[in-house]
Amino acid sequence: MNNYRHSVSLDVSRCVGCTTCLRHCPTEAIRIRDGHAVINEQRCIDCGECIKHCPHKAKKAISGKLSEMDPFKWKIALPAPTLYGQFDGLEDVDYVLQGLLDIGFDDVTEVSQAAELVSAYTRLYMKTEGIKKPVISSACPVILRLIGIRFPSLRDNIMPILPPMEIAAMIAREKAKKEHPELKDEEIGVCFISPCPAKVSYVNNGFAGYKSRVDVVVSISDIYFQLISVMDRSVTPKQLSKSGMIGIGWATSGGESSAIFNEKYLAADGIDNVSRVLDEIENGNIPALEFIELNACPGGCVGGVMAVENPFIAKARMQSLRRYLPVSENFLSKDENFIPEDYIFDDLPSYNPITRLSDNLGESMRMMAQIQRLRETLPGIDCGSCGAPTCRAFAEDVVKGEADISGCVLSMKDDIVKYLKERQGSSNDGS
Ligand code: SF4
Ligand code: SF4
Repeated sequence: MNNYRHSVSLDVSRCVGCTTCLRHCPTEAIRIRDGHAVINEQRCIDCGECIKHCPHKAKKAISGKLSEMDPFKWKIALPAPTLYGQFDGLEDVDYVLQGLLDIGFDDVTEVSQAAELVSAYTRLYMKTEGIKKPVISSACPVILRLIGIRFPSLRDNIMPILPPMEIAAMIAREKAKKEHPELKDEEIGVCFISPCPAKVSYVNNGFAGYKSRVDVVVSISDIYFQLISVMDRSVTPKQLSKSGMIGIGWATSGGESSAIFNEKYLAADGIDNVSRVLDEIENGNIPALEFIELNACPGGCVGGVMAVENPFIAKARMQSLRRYLPVSENFLSKDENFIPEDYIFDDLPSYNPITRLSDNLGESMRMMAQIQRLRETLPGIDCGSCGAPTCRAFAEDVVKGEADISGCVLSMKDDIVKYLKERQGSSNDGS
């Protein structure tokens, strides 16, 4: 993950070093140094948990700006299905799609349309012989990175189909080239409207050597007010949407897995729940399941930090929207029984598992033993005063040379008590 461009950053001027974020980071990526938080870039998975929990708004998501689309001749919007849940009383997603055209996009391709294709290809993939089960969805980029750095033994369980955003970008580009053969590739700009910072990192960094077909990622919160100002709900919009219940359902936890038509699935959301499920799979505790859908944000993508609306309200709105839609608008043809090569990724990026202390096995074991010994001498109350989230993490920092044992206030207290006792003893001796 060297030179990885993250989309979660810290505003040092706002940070008071309160340690709140420290306790919520799922990869123990944060430390307090010199009175403020510091993010370890190797460990950060851009999950946005620290943004959600910082009481001082010192953590923020970095996304693109709509003006970055200006240089492109043909501008295409890719709305995430979560966008539809942001508007009160929305009866028809075409109002939103028309709104995107009205604020300057030349065309719109719904990510929910591509999601229906991914659901169809997932059903095909699940029938493939010899694949490792349970199959883990590849849609949430935070989960892919979490597996890479914390659960590397589960890499082979990940479904190798690109996420709907990427497939929507391919469909959008092909359509633009077909309808406007005069356009050159570089004149077509694709803009994903995202609820989450992890998608920004995905696009900025590419994926396993693969360059994203998306050019700019803007946040839902950035585009929301512009859309509100142009959406005219007094006129019937043109029919633009090409997705049904299945595609729109991907915005909430359980939507993806219910579309595989196989009841042996599990859907979990929220980073702590997801981590627990991955632990269980790694320990072989849930062998009867075939498909696992994991969303880092609570409630699914509706819980992303770049959305506007409360995830539960957004979820309720999406349920009403789905009620009158057909099950799906995107099916595979009868004789389509393979997944297009372009939609498959060969390998996951290689991350440095955080569990690996050194590339040398002997050295790694020696360090592990040192950490264990040091940990036993620490108070074990995970107070955070040392700047690490737990006593174990602090012991690891000390053994790796990243922190000094004097950083533990309680150990210091013991030293002070010992010193005072020694001094008292010497004065009693008259020395
Ligand atoms: S939660 Fe983290 S980033 Fe926010 S003020 Fe506290 S230490 Fe700083
Ligand atoms: S974005 Fe997530 S992984 Fe990165 S520092 Fe914040 S909480 Fe930790």
